[in-house]
Amino acid sequence: MKLLVADGIASEAQKILESIAGLECDIRKSIKADDLLKIIGDYDFLIVRSATKVTKEVIDYGKKLKIIGRAGAGVDNIDVKAATERGIYVENTPGGNSHAVAELVMGMMFALARKLNYADASMRAGKWEKKAFEGTELKDKTLGIIGLGRIGSDLAKMAKAIGMKVIGYDPILTDESFKEYGVTKVELDELYAKSDYISLHVPANDKTKNMINASTIAKMKNGVRIINCARGGIVNEADLKAALESGKVAGAGVDVFSVEPCQPDNPLLSAPNTILTPHIGASTEEAQDNVGVMIANQIKAYIEKKEIINAVNKF
Ligand code: NAD
Repeated sequence: MKLLVADGIASEAQKILESIAGLECDIRKSIKADDLLKIIGDYDFLIVRSATKVTKEVIDYGKKLKIIGRAGAGVDNIDVKAATERGIYVENTPGGNSHAVAELVMGMMFALARKLNYADASMRAGKWEKKAFEGTELKDKTLGIIGLGRIGSDLAKMAKAIGMKVIGYDPILTDESFKEYGVTKVELDELYAKSDYISLHVPANDKTKNMINASTIAKMKNGVRIINCARGGIVNEADLKAALESGKVAGAGVDVFSVEPCQPDNPLLSAPNTILTPHIGASTEEAQDNVGVMIANQIKAYIEKKEIINAVNKF
Protein backbone atom coordinates (compact mmCIF):
# COMPACT_ATOMS: atom_id res chain seq x y z
CA MET A 1 0.00 0.00 0.00
CA LYS A 2 1.13 3.53 -0.72
CA LEU A 3 0.65 6.79 1.17
CA LEU A 4 1.22 10.30 -0.18
CA VAL A 5 1.79 13.16 2.28
CA ALA A 6 1.24 16.29 0.19
CA ASP A 7 1.94 19.24 2.53
CA GLY A 8 4.68 17.91 4.83
CA ILE A 9 4.17 16.38 8.28
CA ALA A 10 5.84 16.63 11.72
CA SER A 11 8.85 14.34 12.22
CA GLU A 12 7.18 12.34 15.03
CA ALA A 13 4.29 11.61 12.69
CA GLN A 14 6.65 10.64 9.88
CA LYS A 15 8.28 8.08 12.20
CA ILE A 16 4.89 6.51 12.97
CA LEU A 17 3.96 6.34 9.28
CA GLU A 18 7.32 4.84 8.26
CA SER A 19 6.98 2.17 10.95
CA ILE A 20 3.70 0.80 9.55
CA ALA A 21 4.36 -2.63 8.05
CA GLY A 22 3.49 -2.89 4.37
CA LEU A 23 3.14 0.87 3.86
CA GLU A 24 5.32 2.75 1.39
CA CYS A 25 5.45 6.47 2.31
CA ASP A 26 6.03 9.32 -0.14
CA ILE A 27 6.43 12.45 1.99
CA ARG A 28 6.48 15.78 0.18
CA LYS A 29 6.51 19.34 1.54
CA SER A 30 4.28 20.59 -1.27
CA ILE A 31 2.90 19.43 -4.58
CA LYS A 32 1.53 21.30 -7.61
CA ALA A 33 -2.09 20.61 -8.55
CA ASP A 34 -1.13 19.21 -11.99
CA ASP A 35 1.51 16.90 -10.50
CA LEU A 36 -0.96 15.63 -7.92
CA LEU A 37 -3.38 14.62 -10.69
CA LYS A 38 -0.61 12.76 -12.50
CA ILE A 39 0.43 10.62 -9.51
CA ILE A 40 -2.59 10.28 -7.21
CA GLY A 41 -3.79 7.12 -9.01
CA ASP A 42 -0.93 5.15 -7.38
CA TYR A 43 -1.87 5.87 -3.77
CA ASP A 44 -4.18 4.24 -1.23
CA PHE A 45 -3.93 7.08 1.31
CA LEU A 46 -3.47 10.84 1.02
CA ILE A 47 -2.63 13.18 3.91
CA VAL A 48 -2.96 16.95 3.44
CA ARG A 49 -2.89 20.10 5.54
CA SER A 50 -4.75 23.12 4.13
CA ALA A 51 -2.56 23.97 1.12
CA THR A 52 -3.42 21.03 -1.17
CA LYS A 53 -6.89 21.22 -2.66
CA VAL A 54 -8.44 17.77 -2.91
CA THR A 55 -10.92 18.52 -5.66
CA LYS A 56 -13.42 16.17 -7.33
CA GLU A 57 -10.89 15.79 -10.15
CA VAL A 58 -8.18 14.63 -7.72
CA ILE A 59 -10.66 12.18 -6.20
CA ASP A 60 -11.70 10.90 -9.65
CA TYR A 61 -8.05 10.26 -10.54
CA GLY A 62 -7.38 8.67 -7.12
CA LYS A 63 -8.83 5.30 -8.11
CA LYS A 64 -7.21 3.40 -5.20
CA LEU A 65 -7.85 5.99 -2.46
CA LYS A 66 -9.30 4.64 0.78
CA ILE A 67 -8.69 7.51 3.22
CA ILE A 68 -8.02 11.21 2.74
CA GLY A 69 -6.53 12.42 6.00
CA ARG A 70 -6.56 16.08 6.99
CA ALA A 71 -3.90 17.03 9.56
CA GLY A 72 -6.10 19.75 11.03
CA ALA A 73 -9.75 20.52 11.68
CA GLY A 74 -11.40 22.24 8.68
CA VAL A 75 -12.05 20.00 5.67
CA ASP A 76 -13.12 22.76 3.27
CA ASN A 77 -10.08 22.10 1.03
CA ILE A 78 -11.44 18.58 0.43
CA ASP A 79 -14.47 17.78 -1.73
CA VAL A 80 -16.09 15.59 0.93
CA LYS A 81 -19.20 14.99 -1.20
CA ALA A 82 -17.12 13.60 -4.09
CA ALA A 83 -15.11 11.44 -1.64
CA THR A 84 -18.31 10.08 -0.08
CA GLU A 85 -19.75 9.22 -3.50
CA ARG A 86 -16.61 7.19 -4.17
CA GLY A 87 -16.68 5.48 -0.74
CA ILE A 88 -13.48 7.22 0.44
CA TYR A 89 -13.31 8.19 4.12
CA VAL A 90 -12.26 11.75 4.96
CA GLU A 91 -10.69 11.88 8.43
CA ASN A 92 -9.62 15.01 10.32
CA THR A 93 -7.92 15.60 13.67
CA PRO A 94 -10.35 17.64 15.74
CA GLY A 95 -8.92 19.42 18.77
CA GLY A 96 -5.25 18.86 17.88
CA ASN A 97 -4.67 22.52 17.09
CA SER A 98 -7.39 24.27 19.13
CA HIS A 99 -5.04 25.68 21.75
CA ALA A 100 -2.78 27.18 19.08
CA VAL A 101 -5.67 29.00 17.40
CA ALA A 102 -7.10 30.24 20.70
CA GLU A 103 -3.67 31.61 21.66
CA LEU A 104 -3.43 33.44 18.32
CA VAL A 105 -6.80 35.09 19.01
CA MET A 106 -5.57 36.17 22.44
CA GLY A 107 -2.43 37.56 20.78
CA MET A 108 -4.55 39.48 18.28
CA MET A 109 -6.73 40.95 21.03
CA PHE A 110 -3.65 42.11 22.96
CA ALA A 111 -2.10 43.50 19.76
CA LEU A 112 -5.29 45.39 18.88
CA ALA A 113 -5.77 46.78 22.38
CA ARG A 114 -2.19 48.10 22.53
CA LYS A 115 -1.68 48.78 18.77
CA LEU A 116 1.46 46.66 18.94
CA ASN A 117 2.05 46.26 15.19
CA TYR A 118 1.71 50.03 14.61
CA ALA A 119 3.90 50.95 17.62
CA ASP A 120 6.59 48.60 16.34
CA ALA A 121 6.42 50.05 12.80
CA SER A 122 6.52 53.61 14.18
CA MET A 123 9.67 52.93 16.21
CA ARG A 124 11.36 51.31 13.24
CA ALA A 125 10.56 54.49 11.30
CA GLY A 126 12.64 56.40 13.87
CA LYS A 127 9.70 57.85 15.84
CA TRP A 128 8.89 57.93 19.58
CA GLU A 129 5.09 58.46 19.59
CA LYS A 130 4.16 57.66 23.19
CA LYS A 131 0.85 59.57 23.06
CA ALA A 132 -0.32 57.98 19.80
CA PHE A 133 -0.03 54.54 21.33
CA GLU A 134 -2.13 54.87 24.44
CA GLY A 135 -4.11 51.65 24.46
CA THR A 136 -6.96 50.01 26.32
CA GLU A 137 -7.12 46.98 28.62
CA LEU A 138 -8.85 43.70 27.96
CA LYS A 139 -9.81 43.23 31.62
CA ASP A 140 -13.56 43.82 32.18
CA LYS A 141 -14.24 44.04 28.43
CA THR A 142 -16.89 41.78 26.94
CA LEU A 143 -15.79 39.13 24.48
CA GLY A 144 -18.53 37.66 22.28
CA ILE A 145 -17.61 34.24 20.90
CA ILE A 146 -19.61 32.93 17.94
CA GLY A 147 -19.22 29.15 17.84
CA LEU A 148 -18.19 27.47 21.10
CA GLY A 149 -16.67 24.25 19.81
CA ARG A 150 -13.12 23.18 20.51
CA ILE A 151 -11.43 26.49 19.71
CA GLY A 152 -14.20 28.78 20.96
CA SER A 153 -14.36 27.01 24.32
CA ASP A 154 -10.55 27.09 24.73
CA LEU A 155 -10.62 30.81 23.98
CA ALA A 156 -13.38 31.33 26.57
CA LYS A 157 -11.17 29.82 29.29
CA MET A 158 -8.19 31.99 28.33
CA ALA A 159 -10.23 35.19 28.12
CA LYS A 160 -11.87 34.58 31.50
CA ALA A 161 -8.44 34.04 33.04
CA ILE A 162 -7.47 37.64 32.19
CA GLY A 163 -10.73 39.06 33.55
CA MET A 164 -12.82 39.40 30.39
CA LYS A 165 -16.57 38.84 30.51
CA VAL A 166 -17.43 36.14 28.01
CA ILE A 167 -20.75 35.78 26.22
CA GLY A 168 -21.40 33.31 23.44
CA TYR A 169 -23.72 32.16 20.67
CA ASP A 170 -23.83 28.57 19.47
CA PRO A 171 -27.15 27.07 18.36
CA ILE A 172 -26.00 23.49 18.92
CA LEU A 173 -24.24 23.73 22.28
CA THR A 174 -26.15 22.53 25.36
CA ASP A 175 -26.92 24.78 28.33
CA GLU A 176 -24.72 22.48 30.47
CA SER A 177 -21.72 23.15 28.21
CA PHE A 178 -22.29 26.93 28.39
CA LYS A 179 -22.28 26.53 32.20
CA GLU A 180 -19.18 24.33 32.15
CA TYR A 181 -17.27 26.92 30.06
CA GLY A 182 -18.55 29.79 32.25
CA VAL A 183 -19.96 31.55 29.19
CA THR A 184 -23.22 33.50 29.26
CA LYS A 185 -25.52 32.19 26.52
CA VAL A 186 -27.01 34.94 24.32
CA GLU A 187 -28.73 35.26 20.95
CA LEU A 188 -26.70 36.71 18.08
CA ASP A 189 -28.24 40.19 18.16
CA GLU A 190 -27.50 40.51 21.88
CA LEU A 191 -23.93 39.34 21.29
CA TYR A 192 -23.52 41.98 18.56
CA ALA A 193 -24.96 44.71 20.78
CA LYS A 194 -22.93 43.91 23.92
CA SER A 195 -19.48 42.80 22.76
CA ASP A 196 -16.32 44.91 22.80
CA TYR A 197 -14.53 42.10 20.97
CA ILE A 198 -16.17 39.52 18.70
CA SER A 199 -14.31 36.35 17.70
CA LEU A 200 -15.63 33.85 15.17
CA HIS A 201 -15.13 30.11 15.59
CA VAL A 202 -17.74 28.57 13.30
CA PRO A 203 -17.24 26.22 10.34
CA ALA A 204 -17.35 27.62 6.80
CA ASN A 205 -20.69 26.67 5.24
CA ASP A 206 -23.69 28.22 3.49
CA LYS A 207 -25.09 29.50 6.80
CA THR A 208 -21.88 31.18 7.95
CA LYS A 209 -20.77 32.64 4.57
CA ASN A 210 -20.79 36.45 4.85
CA MET A 211 -22.20 36.16 8.38
CA ILE A 212 -20.38 39.37 9.31
CA ASN A 213 -21.44 41.99 6.75
CA ALA A 214 -22.56 45.62 6.66
CA SER A 215 -25.96 44.86 8.22
CA THR A 216 -24.64 42.69 11.07
CA ILE A 217 -21.81 45.17 11.72
CA ALA A 218 -24.49 47.90 12.02
CA LYS A 219 -25.92 45.97 15.02
CA MET A 220 -22.56 46.05 16.84
CA LYS A 221 -21.25 48.52 19.41
CA ASN A 222 -19.36 51.51 18.02
CA GLY A 223 -15.67 50.75 18.44
CA VAL A 224 -16.07 46.96 18.41
CA ARG A 225 -13.03 44.86 17.45
CA ILE A 226 -13.56 41.80 15.27
CA ILE A 227 -11.35 38.73 14.97
CA ASN A 228 -11.61 36.05 12.30
CA CYS A 229 -9.29 33.09 12.82
CA ALA A 230 -11.93 30.63 11.52
CA ARG A 231 -12.28 30.68 7.74
CA GLY A 232 -12.14 33.25 4.96
CA GLY A 233 -15.52 34.34 3.61
CA ILE A 234 -17.28 34.26 7.01
CA VAL A 235 -16.50 37.98 7.26
CA ASN A 236 -17.26 40.11 4.19
CA GLU A 237 -13.89 41.75 3.61
CA ALA A 238 -15.11 44.84 1.73
CA ASP A 239 -17.76 45.54 4.40
CA LEU A 240 -15.21 45.11 7.18
CA LYS A 241 -12.82 47.51 5.46
CA ALA A 242 -15.59 50.13 5.11
CA ALA A 243 -16.47 49.77 8.81
CA LEU A 244 -12.80 50.10 9.81
CA GLU A 245 -12.48 53.23 7.69
CA SER A 246 -15.61 54.79 9.18
CA GLY A 247 -14.43 53.97 12.72
CA LYS A 248 -17.53 51.87 13.47
CA VAL A 249 -15.11 48.96 13.92
CA ALA A 250 -12.04 50.06 15.90
CA GLY A 251 -9.83 47.17 14.90
CA ALA A 252 -9.71 43.76 13.28
CA GLY A 253 -7.49 40.70 13.50
CA VAL A 254 -7.69 38.44 10.48
CA ASP A 255 -5.84 35.15 9.90
CA VAL A 256 -8.00 33.72 7.09
CA PHE A 257 -9.02 35.20 3.74
CA SER A 258 -11.68 34.68 1.07
CA VAL A 259 -8.90 33.80 -1.39
CA GLU A 260 -5.71 32.22 -0.06
CA PRO A 261 -2.93 33.02 -0.47
CA CYS A 262 -4.30 36.56 0.11
CA GLN A 263 -4.35 38.47 -3.20
CA PRO A 264 -2.88 41.99 -3.70
CA ASP A 265 -6.38 43.42 -4.29
CA ASN A 266 -7.74 42.15 -0.96
CA PRO A 267 -9.43 45.18 0.66
CA LEU A 268 -8.09 44.36 4.11
CA LEU A 269 -4.49 44.95 3.02
CA SER A 270 -5.19 48.68 3.01
CA ALA A 271 -7.66 48.80 5.93
CA PRO A 272 -6.69 50.80 9.03
CA ASN A 273 -6.22 49.37 12.56
CA THR A 274 -5.85 45.85 11.32
CA ILE A 275 -3.51 43.02 12.12
CA LEU A 276 -3.24 40.40 9.39
CA THR A 277 -1.53 37.01 9.54
CA PRO A 278 -1.14 34.42 6.74
CA HIS A 279 -3.38 31.59 8.07
CA ILE A 280 -1.01 30.70 10.90
CA GLY A 281 -3.64 29.83 13.54
CA ALA A 282 -2.53 26.21 13.74
CA SER A 283 1.11 26.89 12.87
CA THR A 284 2.83 26.07 16.13
CA GLU A 285 5.32 23.28 16.62
CA GLU A 286 3.07 21.75 19.24
CA ALA A 287 -0.10 21.84 17.14
CA GLN A 288 1.66 20.42 14.08
CA ASP A 289 3.06 17.58 16.21
CA ASN A 290 -0.42 16.93 17.64
CA VAL A 291 -2.32 16.85 14.34
CA GLY A 292 0.47 14.95 12.53
CA VAL A 293 0.66 12.24 15.20
CA MET A 294 -3.15 12.01 15.35
CA ILE A 295 -3.57 11.46 11.59
CA ALA A 296 -0.59 9.07 11.43
CA ASN A 297 -2.13 6.94 14.19
CA GLN A 298 -5.50 7.06 12.43
CA ILE A 299 -3.94 5.68 9.21
CA LYS A 300 -2.12 3.04 11.30
CA ALA A 301 -5.40 2.04 12.98
CA TYR A 302 -7.01 1.56 9.57
CA ILE A 303 -4.16 -0.50 8.13
CA GLU A 304 -3.71 -2.67 11.22
CA LYS A 305 -7.31 -2.98 12.49
CA LYS A 306 -9.56 -1.54 9.75
CA GLU A 307 -10.60 1.06 12.35
CA ILE A 308 -12.08 4.35 11.13
CA ILE A 309 -11.34 7.26 13.47
CA ASN A 310 -12.61 10.85 13.18
CA ALA A 311 -14.30 10.34 9.82
CA VAL A 312 -16.34 13.37 8.79
CA ASN A 313 -18.38 11.28 6.32
CA LYS A 314 -20.47 8.11 6.52
CA PHE A 315 -21.71 5.64 3.94
P1 NAD B 1 -15.77 22.77 16.13
O1 NAD B 1 -16.53 21.93 15.17
O2 NAD B 1 -15.18 22.14 17.35
O3 NAD B 1 -16.68 24.00 16.62
C1 NAD B 1 -17.50 24.74 15.77
C2 NAD B 1 -18.68 25.23 16.60
O4 NAD B 1 -19.44 26.14 15.80
C3 NAD B 1 -19.63 24.10 17.04
O5 NAD B 1 -19.81 24.14 18.45
C4 NAD B 1 -20.93 24.42 16.31
O6 NAD B 1 -22.07 24.11 17.09
C5 NAD B 1 -20.81 25.91 16.10
N1 NAD B 1 -21.62 26.43 15.00
C6 NAD B 1 -21.87 25.85 13.80
N2 NAD B 1 -22.63 26.68 13.04
C7 NAD B 1 -22.82 27.81 13.78
C8 NAD B 1 -23.49 29.04 13.54
N3 NAD B 1 -24.11 29.26 12.38
N4 NAD B 1 -23.48 29.98 14.52
C9 NAD B 1 -22.83 29.75 15.69
N5 NAD B 1 -22.19 28.60 15.98
C10 NAD B 1 -22.17 27.65 15.02
O7 NAD B 1 -14.63 23.49 15.27
P2 NAD B 1 -13.25 24.10 15.78
O8 NAD B 1 -12.20 23.03 15.72
O9 NAD B 1 -13.47 24.86 17.04
O10 NAD B 1 -12.94 25.10 14.55
C11 NAD B 1 -13.64 26.34 14.41
C12 NAD B 1 -13.22 27.04 13.11
O11 NAD B 1 -11.82 27.33 13.15
C13 NAD B 1 -13.44 26.22 11.84
O12 NAD B 1 -13.88 27.10 10.81
C14 NAD B 1 -12.05 25.72 11.51
O13 NAD B 1 -11.91 25.43 10.13
C15 NAD B 1 -11.22 26.92 11.93
N6 NAD B 1 -9.81 26.66 12.16
C16 NAD B 1 -8.92 27.63 11.78
C17 NAD B 1 -7.55 27.41 11.97
C18 NAD B 1 -6.55 28.44 11.55
O14 NAD B 1 -5.43 28.09 11.23
N7 NAD B 1 -6.86 29.72 11.58
C19 NAD B 1 -7.11 26.21 12.54
C20 NAD B 1 -8.06 25.27 12.96
C21 NAD B 1 -9.41 25.51 12.76
